[in-house]
Amino acid sequence: MKVLVTGGAGYIGSHVTDMLIERNYDVVVFDNLYTGHREAVHPKATFVQGDLLDKPVVDKLFDDHRFDGILHFASHTLVGESMEKPWLYLRDNAVAGSNLLEAAARQGVKRFILSSTANLFDDPEKIPIVAEERIVPGSPYGESKYIIERYLHWMERIYGMAYCCLRYFNASGAHPNGHIGEDHTPEYHLIPIILQVALGQREKLTIFGNDYATKDGTCIRDYIHVMDLAEAHILALEALADGKSRKYNLGNGKGYSIMEVIQTARDVTGQTIPATVGARRPGDPGTLIADSTRIQNELGWHPEFGNLRTIIETAWNWHQSHPQGYATKK
Ligand code: UDP
Repeated sequence: MKVLVTGGAGYIGSHVTDMLIERNYDVVVFDNLYTGHREAVHPKATFVQGDLLDKPVVDKLFDDHRFDGILHFASHTLVGESMEKPWLYLRDNAVAGSNLLEAAARQGVKRFILSSTANLFDDPEKIPIVAEERIVPGSPYGESKYIIERYLHWMERIYGMAYCCLRYFNASGAHPNGHIGEDHTPEYHLIPIILQVALGQREKLTIFGNDYATKDGTCIRDYIHVMDLAEAHILALEALADGKSRKYNLGNGKGYSIMEVIQTARDVTGQTIPATVGARRPGDPGTLIADSTRIQNELGWHPEFGNLRTIIETAWNWHQSHPQGYATKK
């Protein structure tokens, strides 16, 4: 099976590409390398550098290859940035998605997986958040993913393209082999920031608020290992053979507070990891936990790297062996 992975040089896309290649898929990665890393792409994948906003380049990609399925990761992905630069999201993410979908529909591609987000659930009625929860995007980032979910609704109706929207919670961890991992510049995510403090690359961590209505006052998140996410993508891709579209929430179903994450990282690294409490980060909900029952029941998915210690150990392994990320000199 030949598949296209857009954004396959990014954090999640590179782990999914790696797993697809290990399972003998023929993979074409398309990435503009604005935030991705060429070194993150499995050497057996065909790499095409290009931008989804460049329609002729996208059309050429589909002239050069026939795809049995598409996994779409390429996008701007930061909630905070999207509140400051909304058009990067409301326009660019949407146009990139529409260029891709137009070419895919013209070629008759029948399976499409969208990397979607828990930011669709800004006002959940219940926690853990079920797949049926009503959609309230929390930012232009979430809205841009929802726009593509809506495009997919019409792709299915008009062209018979089966799709799966995977709404991730907090992706984290790294490949257990330590050859690929998380490398963002600048880094905004909690676990890599904590590990940068452990490495001595930052003096300390700032905890964004400790006055939330949670057990220790710090925000609770559902950290899901990137290998478990990757597994879910492959199960979904295979399941779409039946032509039925799906939407799943993807998390461990367990929430950990920032304090618990810091303490686990102290245990794993043996470092003090100084942390001080600062102001809340605008837009942060107190608690986000996924109910992934639907994907567990329908596809038999189960998180294998679910406990926080394993997540942090694999991330630490990557950060220690790649202190400067992919730029680390071997
Ligand atoms: N966080 C923090 N300090 C940091 C980075 C993040 O306290 O330097 C908090 C953030 O406010 C949130 C949690 O850690 O409550 C997870 O943040 P992250 O950006 O990793 O993921 P998000 O939940 O925003 O998708």
